[in-house]
Amino acid sequence: MKIAITWDYELFFGERSGSVAQCMLEPTERLLTLARKYDIPFTFFPDAGCLMMFEEQAACREELQRVKTQIQTWDSLGHETGLHIHPHWEKSVWKDGRWQHDLSHYKLSDFSADEASRVVERYATYMNTLLTRPLQSYRAGGWCAQPFAPVAEAMKKAGIRLDSSVFRGGKNTTKPYQYDFTTTPKAAHWQFTDDPTVEKEQGWFTEVPIASMNYSPLFFWKLLVLGRLNPSQHKPIGNGVPVKGGGSKKDLLTRSHRLCVSADGYFSTQLNRALRRADQAKEPFLVVIGHPKALTSFGLSTLEAFIAQHRTQHEFVTLSSFL
Ligand SMILES: [Zn+2]
Repeated sequence: MKIAITWDYELFFGERSGSVAQCMLEPTERLLTLARKYDIPFTFFPDAGCLMMFEEQAACREELQRVKTQIQTWDSLGHETGLHIHPHWEKSVWKDGRWQHDLSHYKLSDFSADEASRVVERYATYMNTLLTRPLQSYRAGGWCAQPFAPVAEAMKKAGIRLDSSVFRGGKNTTKPYQYDFTTTPKAAHWQFTDDPTVEKEQGWFTEVPIASMNYSPLFFWKLLVLGRLNPSQHKPIGNGVPVKGGGSKKDLLTRSHRLCVSADGYFSTQLNRALRRADQAKEPFLVVIGHPKALTSFGLSTLEAFIAQHRTQHEFVTLSSFL
């Protein structure tokens, strides 16, 4: 089976963004060390809007330079870079030494079709100036890829051929999120034209969904208890606050949730279960999502064990290898 581990490379968007060093540079350095050790490629989705705003802000230029160097390092090592869009950066302001985000424009669909298309064009052009291998893959910020039709043409012009924003069964309509992946084609991957959840045989784009599965309340109880007992192992390396609306703690502790297969922190304990299920279902690949900002010491060692255990029997690949 092919396994693609993908990383959304970004700050937090809640009340505190966290620092570039702790949310991006340091955890990613550890990931690159891991990749080198086992000779496997990752796919990174840097938050393009963030980098472009950093260009405008003198106080952020030094950090920006370190981020660009890191992106160019992984690019030169053969890791893939994809287009990741959090368009709320268009409305973000730098005030009192920190970023303040306006989440009324969290997703592309919060902009007019023209504005959204221009964001796609500008962000893709900017990212391509940093890369030796042009962008081919896209992941919407916060999974909010719908509706896709208003930006389909802009994506095509930007050279995007693959989307990996969908995860089967996922749905969140709590503001600022808006996505519904409860109806998707049965195939492992499919072509589409203007809606990533609707298959079109001759479609320009390929949907390569992120794997998903159910997480029971017990999983979140364990996470809660372990986090209290051993915070040094389970506290994220990133130091910001997530956007509200991802599911309340009470909700997670009382009912089962359909969520992405993830390499974030304690979620990495479920990678073996995900691989077993994908194997049993004879699925050809497993796409895992992760965020450097959400890595933990515990998660990194669990991920390393997973890679060490499976790298001979399975093939670790980049997303664009599915094209
Ligand atoms: Zn993101």
